[in-house]
Amino acid sequence: MRGVGGLWADLADLVLPADCAGCRERRPATRRGFCPDCVAALESLRPRPARPTPAPAGLPPCVALGPYGGVLREALLAYKDRGRHGLARPLGGLLAEVVAEAVGSPAPLLLAPVPDTAAAARARYGDHLVRLAGHAAARLRRAGWPARVVRPLRALPRPDSTTLDSAARARAAESAFRARPGRALPRPRAGGPVPVVVLLDDIVTTGVTLAAAARALTAAGLPPAVAAVLAATEKRHRR
Ligand SMILES: [Zn+2]
Repeated sequence: MRGVGGLWADLADLVLPADCAGCRERRPATRRGFCPDCVAALESLRPRPARPTPAPAGLPPCVALGPYGGVLREALLAYKDRGRHGLARPLGGLLAEVVAEAVGSPAPLLLAPVPDTAAAARARYGDHLVRLAGHAAARLRRAGWPARVVRPLRALPRPDSTTLDSAARARAAESAFRARPGRALPRPRAGGPVPVVVLLDDIVTTGVTLAAAARALTAAGLPPAVAAVLAATEKRHRR
């Protein structure tokens, strides 16, 4: 059973004449961008703890829906790099499942997506993770979890991480985020439950980005209790 219930139950209303985002085949039964086989593959995934080794300092406990491969990887690539913005809703729904698993029991939630750099957001016609976070929050609210998206951070321009070794990536990540000036932080009502801050990202690899965002959130007065991501890459062992 899924934590927030009926992930695909409300998706049968749309029939999109599009290639499946998971396998790229054109099929008549595609719903919200996925064919039935790929829906089944995504539904078979279960959120699990994901902890890179070595885990960088400051990385909160992290839960991922599944490994970065197969239908999940294809869907993320279609959404992020091939402009399939309509996938924000099903992917956001999946992220809501991860959040529910990571937090455990319903609580007021502040969802804090790792921000895109301005350049990345321009290239993708908007911050891709903010869209996912909005759909995840809506899904959680429908399931009875008070959830809202907060954006206290901005991402500074950073070098292309593919040209950096892991040490250089870690140094770049250290200075990747800043608090947005003038952003009023939500305060819990006196005597009310303290909201749980959940850090969101699409993929975790080394964890340095999540750790850096967690430090910046903590510095901004919103220490994240957990991180929720869709996919965790398998660590490649290097000599
Ligand atoms: Zn498919």
